[in-house]
This record gives sequence, structure tokens and C-alpha cells, in this order.
Amino acid sequence: MANMLEVKHINKTYKGQVSYQALKQISFSIEEGEFTAVMGPSGSGKTTLLNIISTIDRPDSGDILINGENPHRLKRTKLAHFRRKQLGFVFQDFNLLDTLTIGENIMLPLTLEKEAPSVMEEKLQGIAAKLGIENLLNKRTFEVSGGQRQRAAIARAVIHKPSLILADEPTGNLDSKATKDVMETLQSLNRDDHVTALMVTHDPVSASYCRRVIFIKDGELFNEIYRGENRQVFYEQILDVLSMLGGNANDLSSVRL
Ligand code: ADP
Ligand code: MG
Repeated sequence: MANMLEVKHINKTYKGQVSYQALKQISFSIEEGEFTAVMGPSGSGKTTLLNIISTIDRPDSGDILINGENPHRLKRTKLAHFRRKQLGFVFQDFNLLDTLTIGENIMLPLTLEKEAPSVMEEKLQGIAAKLGIENLLNKRTFEVSGGQRQRAAIARAVIHKPSLILADEPTGNLDSKATKDVMETLQSLNRDDHVTALMVTHDPVSASYCRRVIFIKDGELFNEIYRGENRQVFYEQILDVLSMLGGNANDLSSVRL
């Protein structure tokens, strides 16, 4: 299988009165169709890593390749286009626009690419049916629950069939029922439509829906584990690695089954 994403020897130091090296020689790759979580204690560099992969931030050294192309080498307008085409984003706080309906929010990536209205409508109906949110399309963001908002945000992230979905704490603001709904949604998109996703989370339950978990500590790769048949067993394995990792107790206080 071809590597969809290659992260090669990434270093990143935040410079200031006190410099801080947030990432140290991070390397890993993600194949097409993988569903992977990145975990680590607060401050271990997870968001920095995701921001560098998504080209929001630049590494000091090292390369990111997405489908063999290094987006950090692209000029600004080409980069904006590359991001819109190749990447889909899901955020902790959903990032939906309150002035638009749920349906209009989901269609945004297509609007930006100036797709024909009939094509947009067809794609919208397709993804809404798949995610079970057909009845929400005409509602406003404040009329639906957190879990429904996040499923709408996932629909928006995948409607243009990007190569890679990047999610930073997508279940961070959700209760356990909504977390389950959102993770089952991501899981079925991965399993049935071969959507490739990389998700940062500190929630071991959310991570247990993935097929692989990469652990980082102090900006370095610490370990990685793959899921077998059983999600509950994987969940226990994730807890074991987290306890070896240490980190702040706050990270484990949010454990919920
Ligand atoms: P995580 O997402 O794992 O909690 P981050 O990637 O946000 O970690 O941060 C990694 C480290 O880099 C932390 O020590 C954080 O304080 C530091 N850091 C993050 N962003 C900045 C910034 N813009 N300037 C300086 N230091 C930063
Ligand atoms: Mg973070």
C-alpha cells in the first residue's frame, strides 16, 4: 500500500526568551485507509504535530509528504488549493458557522471549489444519509446537539473526498453518548469508504475506535500499538501505555467508558 502521509525527521522549536523544542526527530507514515490516533500527555507536542501536517505551522527541519507531495514547498495560493482539495479538518469546538444552516455548513468545501448547485445538493444528500443527519440539514447550528454538530463537521470534512482527515480532539467537548456516536461515524467512514484519518485525542475510549495509536512524549515518539479484533482489549492496552507514559493526572481524569 502506498503511503498517504510521510512525516520525516520533523523538528520544531518555539523560539522566545526561553526556547522550547516541541518536536524532536518525529518520523512515521500513514497508509491509505488507515485510522490512527496520536496520544500523549498535555504539552507533548500533539497539536504542534497536527498543525505541521496540516501546514498551519512550519517545521524547522524535516519533511511532510502527502501523496508524495511536500505542501510546505508550495506557494501560498497553490497551498490553499492543496489544503482544500487534499485535507479535511475536524476541530474540538466544531467550527461551524452559526449564520449558515447545517446543510450549508456541510457544503462549504464544495462552495469554495465552485461546484454546480445540483452536484452540491447530490453530494450533500449522499453524505447526510450516510451519517444519519438528513433531518438536520435545514436547522441552525444552535438547534442541534453537540454530537450532531460534530457529525455535521465530519460530513463537511469528508464531502469533497479529501485524501486525509485531520482531527484535533474531536470528542473533547462531547459527553460519552455523543463521543460514541462520533467515533462510530468516523469508524464507519474508515471501514466502508476507506477514509484515511489521523486524530489527536487524550481520550482512551475515542482512541480505541482507531486501528493504531501512536504515543508521543516530550516531543518524541514513545510507542505505537495496533488494534486486534476486540476494542475493549485495545482500550486496556491503551490505558497500559498511558500509565507508562505518565504525564499529568488531568489527562486520565477524563476517562469514560
Ligand atoms: P499538546 O497538544 O500535546 O498539549 P502542544 O503541541 O500544544 O502540545 O505544545 C507542545 C509544547 O510546545 C508545550 O510545552 C507548549 O507549551 C509549547 N508551545 C505550543 N505552542 C507554542 C507557541 N506558539 N509558542 C511557544 N510555545 C508553544
Ligand atoms: Mg493540543
